[in-house]
Amino acid sequence: MSMAKGALRSLHQLHLELQEVHDKLGQGPRQIEARKKIVVRRQEELKKQGEQKQQLKMSADEKTLQLKTNEGKISELKVKLNTCSSNREFDIFRSQIDADEMANSVLEDEILEAFERVDGVQDAIGVCEQDLQAAHDEEARLAKAVADAAPGLQSEADRLEGSLAEAERELPSRIMEQYRRLVQAHGADSLAAVEGKICTSCHTHLSANEGVELNMGKVAFCRSCGRLLYRGEK
Ligand SMILES: [Zn+2]
Repeated sequence: MSMAKGALRSLHQLHLELQEVHDKLGQGPRQIEARKKIVVRRQEELKKQGEQKQQLKMSADEKTLQLKTNEGKISELKVKLNTCSSNREFDIFRSQIDADEMANSVLEDEILEAFERVDGVQDAIGVCEQDLQAAHDEEARLAKAVADAAPGLQSEADRLEGSLAEAERELPSRIMEQYRRLVQAHGADSLAAVEGKICTSCHTHLSANEGVELNMGKVAFCRSCGRLLYRGEK
């Protein structure tokens, strides 16, 4: 049984157009999902920075407390220094004070550094917050664009499905089962053009007889890849 010239090419074209619309419909939600992941990543980053700031601040506070304790100790030692009764005692207190003052000088440097690091993390948190806001905005923008485009794409899909069903009615009933299986397995790639004598799906050469039959409009499947064949435009 043969078909009208160009009918299978049109059928293939409809399959390809429908696939493109379905791809677009599927792409939107995937893109939104990807944006959501970026938002989550940035939330985690922000949380991490917040925790780091907390730790640095605790460490700076501990050191500040230590400094105050040492200062208290030094004051007490200075009082003792003024009231000591022997040179030996004086030397002991003096060297104790020197050691504590040295320790405090180190602590002061460390406290300064710790607060500088807190400031650094605070700056990083500011950047993270901006990045998070940008990610939120981008997700919202994309979600709106996808939602806006969906009805148009859906009605285009409906229209193409209608045309496809109409075009499929032209197919000989004896090949319908095979055709359905093909579509199930390969979707829009169920059909293949033959350019010259070559199946464009699997590059198999058609025999002379197969070529002649195809030119006569006979419905045939590629003996190698099983695609429903039609004569290409070249
Ligand atoms: Zn083939």
